[in-house]
Amino acid sequence: MKDGRSKNEVITTVDQLGELLQLASEEQEGIRKCRAIMPMKITRSYAKLLDPNDPHDPLRRIVIPSTDELAIYPDDDIVDNHKDEAKYQPIDGIIHRYPGKVLLMYTTGCFAHCRFCFRSEKVVFTLSGRRLDRAIEYLRENESIRDVVFTGGDPFYGNIDRLGHALAEVRRIPHVEIIRITTRAPVYVPQMFDDRLVEMLSQFKPLFMLISFIHPHLITLDQNNDKVRTIG
Ligand code: SF4
Repeated sequence: MKDGRSKNEVITTVDQLGELLQLASEEQEGIRKCRAIMPMKITRSYAKLLDPNDPHDPLRRIVIPSTDELAIYPDDDIVDNHKDEAKYQPIDGIIHRYPGKVLLMYTTGCFAHCRFCFRSEKVVFTLSGRRLDRAIEYLRENESIRDVVFTGGDPFYGNIDRLGHALAEVRRIPHVEIIRITTRAPVYVPQMFDDRLVEMLSQFKPLFMLISFIHPHLITLDQNNDKVRTIG
């Protein structure tokens, strides 16, 4: 399935962003110095929402690297989310921490890089092939599981037909009542939610999308289309 993402190249350099915004010297320094830990990645749709003149614009702070990210704190080793998660990972791609509910770590890829993200993996991997089969098998065999959360990364990143296949497999499991998708795609690539994608998602009802809008300025009118789409 083709989607609106093909038109949405990403901004990754000082020069590209400098064509759109008046960049403060601290921001330029942050972009260059943070490249090794998590490079800047901003979609063009999101860049349109940024205040071109205010380096303190909260929407800029979400995506433009800061050298503050390079600070090292004494408890950095103790607060290691991945180490904690590993205790609840029976197989690749599944985190089973609470009774009845699992996280399906569908992909590590994302449309953009939020600076607060703690999943800054450099290599993008998506659960597919035998690893996906094994994860589905785990869900099928554990009849207490009624709630499956597709998460990542952003599950909408990557091939949409493949995501449709994974959703269909999980939907076929009789004891799974709730499927949820955690995503920031409506923030970073709103144009991808066209009629075809909405129609594809509507096959898997009841389906819940947990959309992370972390600032009111992120909620805008669709500039190309004033109709509100619903999964009906
Ligand atoms: S969308 Fe989520 S997983 Fe992706 S970079 Fe942002 S916070 Fe991290």
